[in-house]
Amino acid sequence: MQNLDSFKKDLKKFTKEKIKTRAEKNNESEKYDTKTAVEICKKGWLGISAPEKYEGGGKDPLWTYEIIRTFSQEDITAAAIITGQFTLVAEILINECQEDIKNNYVPRILNGEINGCYALTEPDAGSNPSEMKSRVKKIEKGWILNGQKMWITNGNIADLAIVYAKEDDAVSCFLVDMKSKGISKTKIHGKMGFKSSDTAEISFENVFIPDQNRIGKKGKGLSVAFKALDNGRLGISVMALGAIEGIQKRLIEIAKNKPSQKNIEDVAKVEVIIESCKSLISKAIDLKSNKKNFTKYASMAKLKSTEGATKAANMLTDKSRDKFANRVWRDVRVMELFEGTSEIQKLIIGNMITGFKAFN
Ligand SMILES: Cc1cc2nc3c(=O)[nH]c(=O)nc-3n(C[C@H](O)[C@H](O)[C@H](O)COP(=O)(O)OP(=O)(O)OC[C@H]3O[C@@H](n4cnc5c(N)ncnc54)[C@H](O)[C@@H]3O)c2cc1C
Repeated sequence: MQNLDSFKKDLKKFTKEKIKTRAEKNNESEKYDTKTAVEICKKGWLGISAPEKYEGGGKDPLWTYEIIRTFSQEDITAAAIITGQFTLVAEILINECQEDIKNNYVPRILNGEINGCYALTEPDAGSNPSEMKSRVKKIEKGWILNGQKMWITNGNIADLAIVYAKEDDAVSCFLVDMKSKGISKTKIHGKMGFKSSDTAEISFENVFIPDQNRIGKKGKGLSVAFKALDNGRLGISVMALGAIEGIQKRLIEIAKNKPSQKNIEDVAKVEVIIESCKSLISKAIDLKSNKKNFTKYASMAKLKSTEGATKAANMLTDKSRDKFANRVWRDVRVMELFEGTSEIQKLIIGNMITGFKAFN
């Protein structure tokens, strides 16, 4: 069994040899890097923090965050392989589903045999998911699902989807087999950033979902969604922290080659951003590990670290127009948008402090 030091050494080597060297080609081809995803799974890294009974590594969540952070120093979309499959899919199954579903799907997601996706957003319901139009109708032995989902990470490659839809007047959550009849997917091309992360628009037309596939109770889907988003936002904060560290490495090189006042000052500014992100992230992780509510800290960490990453990327593109600078600038901007934009994070933080809700 690997110890933390040898794991970190192995992770750095893998990042240097595989993640860094493949980043530009993946970005230019706009293709999901299945080869790297399989290699990550073979190393046991996708599920390194998942319980051993589902064939995970049983390690502390900090091991997963270390992978996300280290990959993001070179390529944020490589880290999205972990956040997309583990945080937004496998963790929901582990936390919310019955044993037979967990045993059937989780080990196969963790070993890379199958992929999942998280389908909440719709063409006309992003920031406020309660405006969603997707709907299920109860029939004998299950439901019939109709609706459309938009901007779904891994939607084209997914074997299963965690789908949110209205059941009567409230949102419920369902596990949908993506091979079911009535599902069509369209790949979204030409994104500004996250180019090698797969993104889809998905239509569900009279899709049958069996009785055992509702996740959580009737009408309680948004609480499943929001719990997953707390974990997701923490993952994005760690991705953004890694990206800032990758940018800082380049800013330091530039300052050493040309020690102008501006170049040295920018290194100092980014160092302050790094330390403030670390402090919010570790507070959120601490609350999560102690099974306390960490919604406010996950939102604060996401807000601070994604906006901090954009500031740092702006500083880098002031001085460098190389491929890394170009790619990271695009990718960090996208992180300010998904899993709740910066405006939405402020509404969540404000709501936690004042009790005032912007959305019903
Ligand atoms: C690359 C990528 C991958 C994604 N992956 C997934 C995925 O896997 N699964 C999934 O379900 N979704 C996914 N999304 C969707 C993402 O979460 C949404 O794009 C995001 O929540 C914003 O929703 P929207 O695009 O509909 O924007 P809108 O909600 O239309 O917002 C537009 C603008 O209005 C602002 N705004 C909205 N309401 C308010 C308000 N009350 N007060 C102040 N400002 C407001 C927003 O901040 C934003 O600036 C992904 C998006 C991208 C770009």
